[in-house]
Amino acid sequence: MPECLPYGRQSIDEDDIQAVVDVLRSDWLTTGPKVAEFEQLFARRVGTAHAVAVTNGTAALHAAAHALGIGPGDEVLLPPMTFAATANVVVHQGGTPVFVDVEPETLLLDAERLEAAITPRTKAVFAVDYAGHPCDYDALRAITDRHGLALLADACHALGGAYKDRPVGSLADLSTFSFHPVKHITTGEGGMITTDDAGLADRMRTFRNHGISADFQQRRQQASWFYEIAQPGHNYRISDIHCALGISQMGKLSDWVAGRRRIARQYDEAFADIAGLTPLRVNDHATHAYHLYVVRADVSRYPGGRAALFAALRDAGVGANVHYIPVHLHPFYRRRFGTGPGLCPVAEAAYEQILSLPIFPGMSDRDTEHVIATLAGLMK
Ligand SMILES: *Cc1c(COP(=O)(O)O)cnc(C)c1O
Repeated sequence: MPECLPYGRQSIDEDDIQAVVDVLRSDWLTTGPKVAEFEQLFARRVGTAHAVAVTNGTAALHAAAHALGIGPGDEVLLPPMTFAATANVVVHQGGTPVFVDVEPETLLLDAERLEAAITPRTKAVFAVDYAGHPCDYDALRAITDRHGLALLADACHALGGAYKDRPVGSLADLSTFSFHPVKHITTGEGGMITTDDAGLADRMRTFRNHGISADFQQRRQQASWFYEIAQPGHNYRISDIHCALGISQMGKLSDWVAGRRRIARQYDEAFADIAGLTPLRVNDHATHAYHLYVVRADVSRYPGGRAALFAALRDAGVGANVHYIPVHLHPFYRRRFGTGPGLCPVAEAAYEQILSLPIFPGMSDRDTEHVIATLAGLMK
């Protein structure tokens, strides 16, 4: 059996390694200059006034939910086609996630259903740029403005993407990112929140540091031991070691997104000629960042259905995956919030058909051709 191509993986070069080694030889391992440098570089890249770096993408979502003041009694509208963390953080804050179904061709939040789901308790919308496809932010913003709601973009799939030539990261009140190795750039583990709102940025900086309002650098400059906890926070601080890797990786982001888009184009062209395979639609206004390449497979054409197709792909060395089990189908959500099958029929039907295929910057043309040839053979 050939070695299995994963659906995503990191690329680490010698300059990345050297950047990390340099920090290890420096005076600062955490809360030092590399954290601020990474934040400033990131904010400049996505065009926001502020960026706040944290330990991972889930911490980014949690800090953002906290900054928005989400708490008991508050409803947050979000799509079920996402990683569970998007909903989990609402629960951590004591709020109620309300799942709104997606559009069939893009699997992005359905704006019409979104507006219909708003109640007097609704506090925010958490949109997800599924697979790296930026949502229609003008449409979402019109709705959130009309109802006085906060708009958060879970942009963990979409770093390097754009909507109407505006970079992902600058399209919502808050945007969150992950630097897990399968994402566009990696810090090992890491996350970031971007915003133009200084007050929200300040709340998130306090939250990531136990709820202490002044950070260590500020206290050092003021030569003071004094601090106060207004509200307990977490230790979501990211280290300078991680941020040095992030800075080094950021320099390659544009090339890597271009590479992902090139692989996606090859898949799109090939699958147009294979019966039973349907790539997701991409909106005209969107520059897709392709964290994932998702194809819908008419699995009824394959003996044994999706599970058998999935296993056959794996046997051929194609490490497909499924993103995602709709969040409202997980046992916790069923038990706590009474969700279940039938709540979001579009997402549930898509779940039965979707496959995430290998896409990452280090893939060769031969790898891409192998994926295409394997699928063409199996779907015959
Ligand atoms: C990866 C991801 C997260 C969580 O990021 P971690 O860094 O793994 O905590 C959240 N939301 C989405 C949509 C993601 O893809």
